[in-house]
Amino acid sequence: MDRIFLHTCCAGCAQGVINTLTSKFKAKPFLFFYNPNIQPESEYIKRKEAIVGLAEITQLSLETPQYNPEEYLSYINSPEKIIDRCFLCYYLRLSYSIEKAHLGGYLLFSTTLLASPHQNHEKIIEICETLTNNSGIDFIYYDFRKEYYEQLAQLKKSGLYCQKYCGCLYSIEGV
Ligand code: SF4
Repeated sequence: MDRIFLHTCCAGCAQGVINTLTSKFKAKPFLFFYNPNIQPESEYIKRKEAIVGLAEITQLSLETPQYNPEEYLSYINSPEKIIDRCFLCYYLRLSYSIEKAHLGGYLLFSTTLLASPHQNHEKIIEICETLTNNSGIDFIYYDFRKEYYEQLAQLKKSGLYCQKYCGCLYSIEGV
């Protein structure tokens, strides 16, 4: 089975992506939970605990870099503009993840952000394709949104935490 470096935004999205990558692509994901956009810290801890739980259930390796929301806050420069803010948020998380994949010698990369019907799917594809172009890493694309609600229901049954908002404080307020 090939190794794939999987940027992992949350357990809710990861559940279905892991199933699809292992069954359809015959790839074993390495989970990389890099999400400095999540606020407040208490929420970050809940989501981290959920992904730790999912890694245990699926018996996959997981890395959770030190939580530092300042990385996100200093990176976004137009918080009042939701489109700019989200695109920068994607770029921050994906660029660092692809850098780590490269350092780890991975040849395949994908992200669980592609599972969410609430994210800008096309922009995520564009960023991943741009960042992996000529990098020696293949970006694995699949429309993971197809199984999202079914997989989310399964995750809820397992008792793992499912968040109620995207991640940043702006998204709590729906802006
Ligand atoms: S709404 Fe979500 S994707 Fe957009 S900036 Fe906030 S956490 Fe990032």
